[in-house]
Amino acid sequence: MSSPCPICRKPATPEARPFCSKRCADVDLQRWLSDRYVVPGAQDDEENPLSTDFDN
Ligand SMILES: [Zn+2]
Repeated sequence: MSSPCPICRKPATPEARPFCSKRCADVDLQRWLSDRYVVPGAQDDEENPLSTDFDN
């Protein structure tokens, strides 16, 4: 048995492991990139434009 998807906890699939789907892999990538984009001392903490930017 493979490990569950770290994003949604569904069973992972061979095509997208360790995720359940390409979508979850992409979500994980986005989180990782977003985390790297966080700049200590940035002044834009109160507004989060990223939350409205997923309309793809
Ligand atoms: Zn998933």
